[in-house]
Amino acid sequence: MTAIQEERTTEDLKALAEQAGRDLEDASALEILQWAVDTFGKRFCVTSSMEDAVVAHLASRVLKGVDVVFLDTGYHFEETIGTRDAVEAVMDVNVITLSPTRTVAEQDAEFGPKLHDRDPDLCCKMRKVEPLERGLKDYLAWATGLRRDESPTRANTPVVGWDEKRQKVKVSPIARWTQDDVDAYVAEHGVLTNPLLMDGYASVGCAPCTRRVLEGEDARAGRWAGSAKTECGLHG
Ligand code: SF4
Repeated sequence: MTAIQEERTTEDLKALAEQAGRDLEDASALEILQWAVDTFGKRFCVTSSMEDAVVAHLASRVLKGVDVVFLDTGYHFEETIGTRDAVEAVMDVNVITLSPTRTVAEQDAEFGPKLHDRDPDLCCKMRKVEPLERGLKDYLAWATGLRRDESPTRANTPVVGWDEKRQKVKVSPIARWTQDDVDAYVAEHGVLTNPLLMDGYASVGCAPCTRRVLEGEDARAGRWAGSAKTECGLHG
């Protein structure tokens, strides 16, 4: 199969995504990624929060030098930036770091300090949602590491779906995986993971909005804990 023709309409892409979601529901992560690479070629990328490099690793087995997009919000833990640097150094991927238009200092000057405590939706919009939208402009499809077992809000994640907000195909090759599947893949392939995962964090986001999880909590309970917010706007 060859990469998709440029003249495909949005309606075509949406239908393609929905059909692929049905056809690939029982396919392996590698088969799903192979479909994405065959269909979109270089107009496909992986996004990574650098919590681990599992999807980047899987994608690099299908396409050497695959684009891996990372959002540097300016609020990351040092360990997250270190994981990004290690992925760039040792893996056969092309890491692309996206930054918000304002530095943290510029945002503080304009909106006041600690916007994340007062209006996290606005902070996420400026530091995550807008940079990603800019960064994805030239791609037709993007892959995420979303998993159905992470939280109730992710329980219905399709393996391939339509991203209405960005009008792109959204691929979640490990949607059906469990934490045990991730752990087994990391162990088998020696995949890089964020050191914070060994320090009580189950999901790693920006430092001001992430805490360790308690026993029995779901993996994302440590994100925006104490508020009703569960997603940053990238996936909602
Ligand atoms: Fe801001 Fe917190 Fe969102 Fe990061 S997760 S962009 S610090 S509100």
